[in-house]
Amino acid sequence: MSRYLIVGGAGYIGSHVVRALVERGDTVVVLDNLSTGHLEAIATSGARFIPGDVCEGNGLDRLFRCQEFDCVMHFAASSLVGESVTKPLDYYANNAGGAIRLLEAMQRNGVDNFVFSSTAAVYGEPSRVPIEESCTPQPTNPYGRSKRFIEQLLGDCAKAYGLRYAALRYFNAGGACPSGEIGEDHSPETHLIPLVLQVALGQRERIDIYGTDWPTPDGTCVRDYVHVCDLADAHLLAADRLAAGGESVVFNLGNERGLSVREVVDLARRVTGREIPVRDAPRRSGDPARLVASSSRIRSALGWSPRFEDPGELIETAWRWHREHPHGY
Ligand code: UDP
Repeated sequence: MSRYLIVGGAGYIGSHVVRALVERGDTVVVLDNLSTGHLEAIATSGARFIPGDVCEGNGLDRLFRCQEFDCVMHFAASSLVGESVTKPLDYYANNAGGAIRLLEAMQRNGVDNFVFSSTAAVYGEPSRVPIEESCTPQPTNPYGRSKRFIEQLLGDCAKAYGLRYAALRYFNAGGACPSGEIGEDHSPETHLIPLVLQVALGQRERIDIYGTDWPTPDGTCVRDYVHVCDLADAHLLAADRLAAGGESVVFNLGNERGLSVREVVDLARRVTGREIPVRDAPRRSGDPARLVASSSRIRSALGWSPRFEDPGELIETAWRWHREHPHGY
């Protein structure tokens, strides 16, 4: 049994990790300022909740002094590409600033193991697909650059202070806990799958397809959708490896299968049995044409393999969540 501090644990991905840790018997403390997270996402999980902001160094020190942790996982971040272009200072302050405060507090209090939420956005427009971790990161927006900065900071802290970390580069997270109790709830919602399901529920008239002239088979953007519970499994494996003395690592987390925007809509039509009207719209700035992961590194290093390889199943779990919680938490 290990003791975890989960920063940003009330958010979409964090709350699924919290649930998985508690289910296997670990002790979990969640620190979250609830700016985008939801108390309901962890209320019945068995984790202890501490309201607070990762950018507040004093609060972090108090927390580390009252309780011992074996590992910290850091999910708290601003994560919208478009918003990062118009508010870069907010993104650097919250993402880079928050990570610095957290790493400082960990160093002062002798906590060495760190699991970090990174992103496929660090790759920018990749020169080769599927993308391997050795592909040179060239982020094309402030969000991706803020995450890449933290990855580099982690490398420096590992050398200087003996920090050991796993940086997990998520591709497109989707789906929900099959129990239907927790799921995705952003406000405003900008992500494709929840928006498509809101159309299926009759909450939106149609889905805009951002660009139909991309250099892809059907002209729409291709992404690698990975189930949020598979992401959660990977966090547990990565933390266990650090606990066993493993070296610092960077892993992609994706299914190695690309789905176009049109394919997502078609799958959602099949799963929901609803019509889901679409409208062709201009490209969204900052979108790369095709992001598909190679996840062979984490498969062979940690034995990770996704339980939800079928994208239809991913959409089914998301649909259950949205149907049962049409207005979110
Ligand atoms: N997308 C779209 N219409 C929408 C929202 C998203 O066509 O209303 C496209 C978007 O351009 C991208 C894909 O769906 O190619 C996934 O976008 P999302 O925002 O879900 O995730 P991202 O890839 O930006 O992390």
